[in-house]
Amino acid sequence: MNFSDLGLAEPLLRAVRDQGYDVPTPIQVQAIPAVLQGGDLLAGAQTGTGKTAGFTLPMLQRLTEAKPLRDSRGRIAIRALVLTPTRELAAQVEESVRAYGKYLPLTSMVMFGGVGMQPQIDRLKKGVDILVATPGRLLDHHAQGTLDLSQVQILVLDEADRMLDMGFIHDIKKVLAALPPKKQSLLFSATFSDEIKALADRLLNQPALIEVARRNATAETIAQKVHPVGREKKKDLLAHLIRQGDWHQVLVFTRMKHGANRLAEFLNEQGISAMAIHGNKSQGARTKALAEFKAGTLQVLVATDIAARGIDIDQLPHVVNFELPNVPEDYVHRIGRTGRAGASGEAISLVCLDEDIFLRDIERLIKRDIPVQVIPGFAPAPGEKAEPIVLGRMTIGVGGTRRNAGGGQGAPRGGRPGGGGGARPQGQGAGQGSGGQRNQSGGQRTSSGPSPRGSSSGHGGGRAAQGPRGPRR
Ligand code: AMP
Repeated sequence: MNFSDLGLAEPLLRAVRDQGYDVPTPIQVQAIPAVLQGGDLLAGAQTGTGKTAGFTLPMLQRLTEAKPLRDSRGRIAIRALVLTPTRELAAQVEESVRAYGKYLPLTSMVMFGGVGMQPQIDRLKKGVDILVATPGRLLDHHAQGTLDLSQVQILVLDEADRMLDMGFIHDIKKVLAALPPKKQSLLFSATFSDEIKALADRLLNQPALIEVARRNATAETIAQKVHPVGREKKKDLLAHLIRQGDWHQVLVFTRMKHGANRLAEFLNEQGISAMAIHGNKSQGARTKALAEFKAGTLQVLVATDIAARGIDIDQLPHVVNFELPNVPEDYVHRIGRTGRAGASGEAISLVCLDEDIFLRDIERLIKRDIPVQVIPGFAPAPGEKAEPIVLGRMTIGVGGTRRNAGGGQGAPRGGRPGGGGGARPQGQGAGQGSGGQRNQSGGQRTSSGPSPRGSSSGHGGGRAAQGPRGPRR
């Protein structure tokens, strides 16, 4: 399959050639013809799949095929709006719009908060065909009357799940209310929570459904490894690995904010430069940590899952799960930060006995066993026993039970030999896969590819049917 087989016009094919792309990625093969047809689209794809070109190329083509519009003041009217969760992503997407549209007479603009309004107002006055924006600043302009969204024909919600994670749902609803009801809407999301499904139901009309495999579900370029470790020895093991391996750019994940802070403090005491980023940190502190980390002056960035999803860092040599996530899909997100585009990467998990239940869920999701390597001196002590993990109000019990810490209903997980069972406190994860999405949205599947939810929705899948695993160590 070539780009020219997808129905793209010559100026776009030339721009694609300039980028050095030879063949379209799976999401592009499916999304480009679907968008060119003019219908709505619901796409399950995350960063690294080539999704940006997947919506940008056909969007540019549709805009050139239709006639340019003028707004009430005679300026070029905004005909396409792309919403993104972060300013970094907005900037990247607009850069792609310019790169792919370089041989077309279309104009674009990026708009996000944290910078002055006036230059954006001045730019808007000149007229823009394609606006790439974060929701908050977009609404600021709309409220001030400096932005006319009445002629938008194509709407893209990029990384919709991240937008919801970051609390943008009300802003998104306000933006939708400001747009014409008749338009082509494209929604991209790596995951499909109930909230995303509700948004898709509200926004999309008979959408084409496209799913591509999570890029790293089977990525061969990522060397995954588990180091069994005594609960109290984790910090020392991490410092040991960083020193032994002479690691200079390590992204470390913890489950909780306070754990991230404590770990960063410990590493600094050990002479390893580290900063924690999480929701309680100011935007300034996060930007600074990220800039230093990217520049290579900060050795270790410690992050929680939510914080890491709000920032753009990728292609790292080392990702460490200091604690395994209780939601197995988060493991795939985390390790996806390494080993992109053929670069080799390493994803290390430090697993104490308490976390075996999480590990089993993860291995079931990714459909493979992660190789185990004991680092001498750091293994759990012979008498060490698994203890329950407390996550907020949830206690995840030894042996796969989960119960409410407030003393509520004990709930052994049925039907799962081996007793694995990560808790999903807010209904994330299992059982909300693409099946529900298909039913609710009433669209047509255009893909025969694997579900991005992997095997998580079917608890009978994978090794679950094979009975309990033997002890790992
Ligand atoms: P995205 O998922 O849109 O963030 O894209 C991930 C990376 O893949 C970007 O650096 C793109 O430039 C690159 N890319 C997109 N499409 C292709 C393609 N067909 N061939 C090679 N690289 C691509």
